[in-house]
Amino acid sequence: MFRAILIEKDEAGSRAALTEIDEEQLPEGDVTVEVAHSTLNYKDGLAITGKAPVVRKFPMVPGIDLAGTVRDSAHADYRPGDRVVLNGWGVGETHWGGLAQLARLKGDWLVPLPEAFTPRQAMAIGTAGYTAMLCVMALERHGVTPDKGEVVVTGAAGGVGSTAIALLSGLGYTVAAVSGRPEEAEYLRGLGASEILERAAFASPGKPLAKERFAGAVDAVGSHTLANVLAATRYRGVVAACGLAQGMDLPASVAPFILRGVTLVGIDSVMCPRPERLEAWQRLARDLDPGKLDAMAGEIGLSEVVATAERLMAGQVRGRITVDVN
Ligand code: NDP
Repeated sequence: MFRAILIEKDEAGSRAALTEIDEEQLPEGDVTVEVAHSTLNYKDGLAITGKAPVVRKFPMVPGIDLAGTVRDSAHADYRPGDRVVLNGWGVGETHWGGLAQLARLKGDWLVPLPEAFTPRQAMAIGTAGYTAMLCVMALERHGVTPDKGEVVVTGAAGGVGSTAIALLSGLGYTVAAVSGRPEEAEYLRGLGASEILERAAFASPGKPLAKERFAGAVDAVGSHTLANVLAATRYRGVVAACGLAQGMDLPASVAPFILRGVTLVGIDSVMCPRPERLEAWQRLARDLDPGKLDAMAGEIGLSEVVATAERLMAGQVRGRITVDVN
């Protein structure tokens, strides 16, 4: 038997609870992992609270991320004792996930845990941090270098936002942080933000074009916020869009694209091809200050997951939350 969060569904809706599961119920896969740590991402919050149809099969063990040690493997690349990390691939949505002491997975989904990180540190990064890295890599690929000017990060005090600020400032960018939590200004400056901008100024409908300000952007929020970021992006600037904390919609005009040559880059972490994942994890090991990582991550146990998911959905969680599943 092993302990796990399980989401079940009936006519009354879906419910998540900590439970004990027989190992024989584990899904198919060629690698079994003893999970050390998992984490709570925004998507896990949606799955656990049932606020959005993230879970496609019931019963489901949520958790889109895990880090741990291989126990059994029929996959050529993995042996018992190997340290591994997993992000996405539908795990926690269509295949049992990481908020459990054991997971059975496809070896092709796994990434070797970089030497630089403990399993807990890898989960302090998690999908949120790896997505922030994918956003930074996209800005670089499209030519946004620190000398081009200020870069803005929205949803700043959240998981993606916090990691993006730490990464960008470490790489020498000047970072403006958009946040709705003025009480987190000191935290955001500690991560490397040089200016804190009010969320309200971005979250309401704006003009198709605003004063040119940002050379680049990492947007975790979508909706009017993304529209306003696009409108304030400088000539030939680049916006990496990865999130929808404000909304799925994009009430924008084409003006930034056709008059200022702005590039909007979409970022998906779930099905991101393996070479780019490996690169992102290598870059995280190189570019993310472990001191900042510690500052942005709190830790809970499996028994606190359901209540913390509610707080995450209410926008009350700062930075990242790791889950010690044991
Ligand atoms: P968090 O909940 O940790 O952070 C979201 C942040 O967005 C909050 O901390 C808050 O920042 C801000 N925010 C919340 N509600 C609103 C609102 N109504 N209007 C404006 N801003 C708001 O989530 P994550 O950082 O884990 O994820 C951020 C987004 O990125 C999510 O939408 C998530 O689904 C998405 N995502 C996408 C991935 C991909 O593959 N494309 C991968 C990972 C995440 P503050 O308090 O500072 O204002």
